[in-house]
Amino acid sequence: MTTINKKVCLLGDFAVGKTSLVRRFVYNMFDDKYISSIGVKVSRKTVQIPQANAFTSLTMMLWDLAGSERFDQVKSSYIRGTSGAILVCDLTRPETLANLHIYIEDLQYASPDARLIIAANKSDLVNEQQIALTEVEKITIRYEASYYLTSAKTGSGVENVFRHLARLLLE
Ligand code: GDP
Ligand code: MG
Repeated sequence: MTTINKKVCLLGDFAVGKTSLVRRFVYNMFDDKYISSIGVKVSRKTVQIPQANAFTSLTMMLWDLAGSERFDQVKSSYIRGTSGAILVCDLTRPETLANLHIYIEDLQYASPDARLIIAANKSDLVNEQQIALTEVEKITIRYEASYYLTSAKTGSGVENVFRHLARLLLE
């Protein structure tokens, strides 16, 4: 069986949970301490996606960049050639949703054919939610993207968001 390889970038502001989502998806782990990633970390995970009565094996190369303050300088080399992106916002911080426009526009400029999906993360912090779902839906309509409520902490929605993107990458 052949395996298809695709590059996927995690995009979003500092501390929205990009590294935690990758960690949950790849290792099924979560850490409350801040996991500072230095530079770019590439993790991989292979998923089996049902397609035309068979399974296709897709290896997602998950690119995770540390330090949003340096993003401007490295973003073109980070995003270039990516097949897909997971855009992450933090449901407890409205500015992280507003900033998704910038990441999406950078992505569409550097990799016009890239598929994207939105992860509205930290859904477990139910008493701290500051973003109405209608606000998330406005972005999904504008960019014709799907979104999932996720929690890297509990794992809720995490498989769904990565697997949905995997299916888009095989279209
Ligand atoms: P990054 O800068 O986007 O990579 O964010 P991190 O993955 O380092 O997460 C930033 C902080 O938020 C860390 O303290 C994480 O433990 C925490 N965090 C990440 N995802 C979640 C989540 O879904 N729920 C909760 N409660 N905390 C989270
Ligand atoms: Mg990180």
